[in-house]
Amino acid sequence: MRSIPNGRLQVVCGPMFAGKSEELLRRVRRAQLAGLAVEVVNHALDDRHAGGRVASHSGLSIASRSVPDVGSLVELVGDRELDLLAIDEAQFFGTELVPAVSRLVLTGMSVVVAGLCVTFDGRPFEPLPSLMALAEDVTKLTAVCAVCGQDAAFHQRVLADDVADARLATAEHVGGIESYQARCRQHFGERGRRSA
Ligand SMILES: [Zn+2]
Repeated sequence: MRSIPNGRLQVVCGPMFAGKSEELLRRVRRAQLAGLAVEVVNHALDDRHAGGRVASHSGLSIASRSVPDVGSLVELVGDRELDLLAIDEAQFFGTELVPAVSRLVLTGMSVVVAGLCVTFDGRPFEPLPSLMALAEDVTKLTAVCAVCGQDAAFHQRVLADDVADARLATAEHVGGIESYQARCRQHFGERGRRSA
């Protein structure tokens, strides 16, 4: 019998505002409590997590390492015997992430990958769809539609005019000149609506 533990690929995906980072951090915290060797990685482009931490919208945060590309991610792991590697905002890493993660899981470590699986214009966003196909475990989260409150599998860019409504604006992530809203299928593509 081989004693190498079975690594599992876990994917946590969805649109913006679905709580992906929060779910990733929940799993990281559980693994840390269990005394496992854990590393948390995010992409250097992800300025929401600047300062070496992965944070969720709800305020949880955990120390992380930022890397600029897949090569640096693999180098960071090196030959360390991690029990769990957690990768946040995985969409920044591109399709190279798929074979790299597959190789890491084969060595026996579990890898949990969180990221956007849909673009702001409603298309599948690689590498998450490929990782979902190859994973042992997939958790697809939804957000809450900013127009009607139903499950939102999409997010879209909204114009500044559309977010003038303070009630809607509380559901906004405003990053510089762009802002986004979660939308259900029915309201995806519509301009922000003032619900009277
Ligand atoms: Zn809706």
